[in-house]
Amino acid sequence: MKTERRNSFAPVLLGLMAAMLLIQMIQNGTFTRNPELGYALLLVGMVLAAMLFSRRKQQRELAGSAAYLAKSEIPSTRFKDVAANDEALEALRDLVSFIREPENYAVLGARIPRGVLLYGMPGTGKTLMAKALAGEAGVPFFAVNGADFVEMYVGVGASRVRSLFHKARKCGKAVIFFDEIDAIGKKRDNRSDEREQTLNALLSEMSGFGERDGVVVLAATNRVDTLDEALLRAGRFDRQIEVPLPGVAERLQILNVHAGRIRLSDAVSLDALARQTALFSGARLECLLNEAAILAAKRGSDQVEEQDVQRAMERSLFGAEKHGLSRHEHERHITAAHEAGHAVATAVLLPESELTRVSIIPTSRGAAGYSMALPPEKMFHEKQELQCHIAVALAGREAERMLLGADRVSTGASNDIEKAALIARRMVCEWGMLPGSDDIYLFSQQQKDMAAQQWLKQGQQLASQVLAEHHAVWTALTQRLLEKETVDGEEVRRIMQ
Ligand code: ADP
Ligand code: ZN
Repeated sequence: MKTERRNSFAPVLLGLMAAMLLIQMIQNGTFTRNPELGYALLLVGMVLAAMLFSRRKQQRELAGSAAYLAKSEIPSTRFKDVAANDEALEALRDLVSFIREPENYAVLGARIPRGVLLYGMPGTGKTLMAKALAGEAGVPFFAVNGADFVEMYVGVGASRVRSLFHKARKCGKAVIFFDEIDAIGKKRDNRSDEREQTLNALLSEMSGFGERDGVVVLAATNRVDTLDEALLRAGRFDRQIEVPLPGVAERLQILNVHAGRIRLSDAVSLDALARQTALFSGARLECLLNEAAILAAKRGSDQVEEQDVQRAMERSLFGAEKHGLSRHEHERHITAAHEAGHAVATAVLLPESELTRVSIIPTSRGAAGYSMALPPEKMFHEKQELQCHIAVALAGREAERMLLGADRVSTGASNDIEKAALIARRMVCEWGMLPGSDDIYLFSQQQKDMAAQQWLKQGQQLASQVLAEHHAVWTALTQRLLEKETVDGEEVRRIMQ
């Protein structure tokens, strides 16, 4: 809006000067002596006025439409350009045939989710996949950024949303991609009127799809837990897919995709590079290879050698990490020990749960790693089993204590402690289960707190006992995690034996 005012300032000034000149000329009679001069001046003034008006109109139109926000074209990107990210790709594959022939689904009464939310750290390929979906389906791709819909003027964002969807519908079939959807769809704590209206416009556009429209909406965010629930409800973004940071194997796949574009010496081992690049996103891997290629070109070499890759790697590490490699390695080690602790405790104490995966790859929910187990399906839990759950939750912290000593445990266990405390409290308050043999019902808060506290203490002791007894397994699993980053349940069981 500011630029508009500056742009129209010059014509206004010129027009004013011309008018003043004209008046003066009429007064002193120049106009009657040389009429051509007068007409010429009049003409110039009219042209300037016309220019001014047309620019105003253009700007007003632009402000209300998404025309200048969304570039729409059919992308040349395909699924084969995306490495790893298998789960997300699988879901998107399902959508391709829906976009192409929505009628087939409508006839059967099948309801396909048209809103897919991709969540994960920056650079994990969310935009790339959305583009590839449009490319595969052969339909126009409208990419917009959530931040472009948040304006100072109430109603502008909402009208942009409406005209964006209008444009997409006019194409018949299309993929709309909202990057950084959280800019519009944050939880409703202190959202402005403008944001509220924009979100409502988006929600109503999404519910307004006809069954036969082959339009799907993809959105991306780094944090799913900050989004308004209204966005995640059925009929909106009811399919949510995590796009995790790549593990070693996935990094190799991504490197392979991008290595195809540069001239790489046979001496360079992408395998080794994949192992060196823990926690790198796809975007960062691509950037790394590109940087290596630039360095090789600067050297005057005709192919990218190991030395270029290593120099690019150094730059990348120093550019991105404040505390350098050793600090980073240290944190990785703590995370590995912590997660291995949870996993070993699960395997020993809760044999009925099926341990599926342990990992030291951070999640987009803010955890440094995770240990995943499928609990058995049942209605009732026994007291002894619940105690084991507490121990499993606390085993991460106990593992850190074993590794580094009590004074150096990290903040990585806050969720665990919350979880353990919740179980302990429910045992005491809801289920009347007390540590020791006689269960009685407690009424005073102080008594309840004491009992829950005791459950936690016992759980902690149990966890540290299990880790001490299975020390060798815990160490082996920690090492394995440092090498591979993600270890599946099968392998954990093999290590346990
Ligand atoms: P996001 O949208 O998740 O922030 P982008 O899709 O913009 O990430 O990724 C930026 C670039 O990084 C992509 O254009 C691509 O070159 C590269 N990239 C990221 N993830 C992958 C992947 N899984 N496979 C191949 N390339 C990737
Ligand atoms: Zn933990």
